[in-house]
Amino acid sequence: MAKHRLIVIPPPFQGHMTPMLQLATILHSKGFSITVAHTNFNSPDPTNYPDDFTFLPFYDGLSDSCTLSPKNVIQISKTLNINCVTPVKELLLRIMDENKENQEEKILCVIYDGLMHFVDSVARELNLPTILFRTTCATNFLSYHSLPTLQTNGYLPLQDSSCVCMEMVEGLEPLRYRDLPIFNMGESATDTMVKQAAISLSVKPSLGVIFNTIEFLEASSLQKLRNLYKIGVFPIGPLHMLTPPSSQKQDNSSMTTTTSLMKEDYSCITWLNEQEPGSVLYVSLGSIASWNERELIEVAHGLANSEQRFLWVIRPETIKSIPEEVKSLAREKGRIVKWAPQREVLAHSAVGGFWSHCGWNSTLESVCFGVPMMCQPCFGDQRVNARLASHVWKVGIDCSEMRIGREEVEGAVRRMMVSWEGKEMRERAVLMKDKIRVGVRDQDALNALVHAIIMSTCAPLNIHNS
Ligand code: UDP
Repeated sequence: MAKHRLIVIPPPFQGHMTPMLQLATILHSKGFSITVAHTNFNSPDPTNYPDDFTFLPFYDGLSDSCTLSPKNVIQISKTLNINCVTPVKELLLRIMDENKENQEEKILCVIYDGLMHFVDSVARELNLPTILFRTTCATNFLSYHSLPTLQTNGYLPLQDSSCVCMEMVEGLEPLRYRDLPIFNMGESATDTMVKQAAISLSVKPSLGVIFNTIEFLEASSLQKLRNLYKIGVFPIGPLHMLTPPSSQKQDNSSMTTTTSLMKEDYSCITWLNEQEPGSVLYVSLGSIASWNERELIEVAHGLANSEQRFLWVIRPETIKSIPEEVKSLAREKGRIVKWAPQREVLAHSAVGGFWSHCGWNSTLESVCFGVPMMCQPCFGDQRVNARLASHVWKVGIDCSEMRIGREEVEGAVRRMMVSWEGKEMRERAVLMKDKIRVGVRDQDALNALVHAIIMSTCAPLNIHNS
């Protein structure tokens, strides 16, 4: 029986790499062979994946010393869409050439991340079917459709001072203008983002679009997208819940194959084991956002004054060294790590709240483990996710307006961890977790995706229906 290969192309950002590699692992478990074509910068570790995953790097023109920040992430995406066209084309041609000689194998399609939209035309030129994978929520992608109108009406750039900030965006309720992913970006970044969004909207992959979401969370947005798109929309998620456990890991350290680009510090799990149930606030701004030194000090005071226990991720590249004042304030009730095994942390019974920047992966992970959030979006789609968590699902406190000052932090942490409001949110979060678990059992979207991939070449495949 011929093997059937999928080529997946993620961008070099943790929040995009993780869901793409989870998707690849799920499709591998369905019987497909996987090639991961990736940039040299921030490349994944092949030893974390099944032996028969193939990893092929391509030239990206980014320097090794490049550090990601909210300010440069859009520019880097733009650069990748220019620099990588020829290297990816050459790489696909090479794989196709090798394939011609190998009767045992057939390339079925290329699955690329929405940030790497250049891949669509490259693959089309080579007659390869394509699937677009959008790693933000469906509601965020839907919001891109409002950008041309905003521009025509002269509302861009959309800033704190804009008169429409608090108004609902027609067709996107309950999103307000201030919840849109381009809010507070500055003129040049807004311009780049609007152009990128226009390209994203114009790309029409041949086989459909995958979202890392589930009907239960975003039914209305998904329906609107189905009406707008005339191709398949596959809500397959939350991916971390569908990813089969790693068969390679012997130490049982991870619930699923780790997709982390940084080394996870498991000592914090030992620390969590010693804490009371629901007593710890987990604090993390994901892989790109960060607080400056003044903010770190204020956060440390606020956390210490709240008298709650906390586990706090401070990534080393975001600060020369953690101020002594912060370390000493954390000593009694807290624990600081450089990078945590986040899914294990959120699954831990000691964790009672998550102060989050509301990246889509973190948001999904939090709701799937029944942990309520302090929602403090920093940029982009995080605003949309924070609005969903706080206003639609009501499992998060909206901290998007919160000044980072010690009194404000202390108040918000107490509200989350010890108030009635926090307790009710925790109860709602647990109910939501249970409903998601029920929803995940329905694998119709995944089965439909597998079917669409196979039908693209009408190739018979030995599919595993587990
Ligand atoms: N993450 C992690 N350890 C940390 C912080 C984050 O493993 O200490 C993971 C987290 O589980 C999530 C990803 O990094 O899967 C961050 O993605 P998200 O979309 O939440 O935010 P981004 O980093 O893209 O802003």
